[in-house]
Amino acid sequence: MPRIPVKAAVLREPGEQLALETVYLDEPGFGEVLVRTMAAGLCHSDLHYLKGTMGISLPAVLGHEVAGVVERCGPGVNRITPGDRVVVTITPSCGQCPACVSGTPTRCSRVSQMRERPEPLLVDEAGETITSLGSIGAFAEAIVVPESALAVVGADLPPSVAALLGCCVSTGVGAVIHGAHVGPNDTVAVIGCGGVGMAAIQGARLSGARRIIAIDLHDEKLALASRLGATDVLRSSADDVRSAVLSLVPGGVTHAFEAVGRPATAELAFSLLASGGVATILGLMPSGSQITIEASELIEGDRRMQGAYMGGNRFLADIDTLTDHYRSGRLDLDAMVTGSVSLAGINDGFTAMASRSSIRNVVALGEGTW
Ligand SMILES: [Zn+2]
Ligand SMILES: [Zn+2]
Repeated sequence: MPRIPVKAAVLREPGEQLALETVYLDEPGFGEVLVRTMAAGLCHSDLHYLKGTMGISLPAVLGHEVAGVVERCGPGVNRITPGDRVVVTITPSCGQCPACVSGTPTRCSRVSQMRERPEPLLVDEAGETITSLGSIGAFAEAIVVPESALAVVGADLPPSVAALLGCCVSTGVGAVIHGAHVGPNDTVAVIGCGGVGMAAIQGARLSGARRIIAIDLHDEKLALASRLGATDVLRSSADDVRSAVLSLVPGGVTHAFEAVGRPATAELAFSLLASGGVATILGLMPSGSQITIEASELIEGDRRMQGAYMGGNRFLADIDTLTDHYRSGRLDLDAMVTGSVSLAGINDGFTAMASRSSIRNVVALGEGTW
């Protein structure tokens, strides 16, 4: 069957601009779905691959935070139908392995099997294989993904908001609820007020945390963090952050979340903990990164440091929960979409990520509505 020509932003060399090219997408195979892309968020992990601080085989189409409309389903697809508005997760889950049946689908042991396919998803004009980040490759007019990577969302959600549900919101809110089990007795510090951090702040507000301290370099982000639920804000460049946190919450916080992706901020998160506290590290770090913590603080204070990949989300259930909280106004996702670019303008979108007020920039395809 002939491949589907689609425009995509292709990374050919790390550090270089993405090039808008026509690439050729395979038809959906067994258990796969063809989705017309409506909105794709620019995530900091995309930036890692773009800069070369994390490796990916090139050429590649990046992008993994995406919403769109189902165009065609391959054989064996039974939950999704053409016309569905869908959001995509980078962690498809089989629903049958021990991790899935234990309620931890982000640890599914059969992810690579679900992504396996006889032919490459994407090839270029010359027939050379193009890698799709996370077997998604969202910076393209259309994608083909396994059915298990999709959740159906309501048509009342703007596509840009729906896209955010797929990565930063699932990760930030998920980490607070599933990863750290924050409750009303907890005191929380969130380091880094980008998409994941803002979602973690809102997750802490949803969980009823009694103090939520937002920490960031920029006043603009801290102002928004206050609107989204932070009870206290700290500008990390101006203060001795640890002593400032301890003066707000004597003894330290019960939960710290790192949403920057640097060993130093992970170490800072751990240093803010009260005895028995838990630091949850969310930001992806450059390959080979090491985190150093004080052993006596860990052991004698019963402290913990943990990962929560993709927030330990339970995608299919969480999307409905998050949608309800968005509809009721308890989860402000519109405020997190701070910019939008066309696919052709994607390099400007990555440049804009460095701006002080940027939370999430989104590539909007089509008219910006479903
Ligand atoms: Zn992401
Ligand atoms: Zn599984």
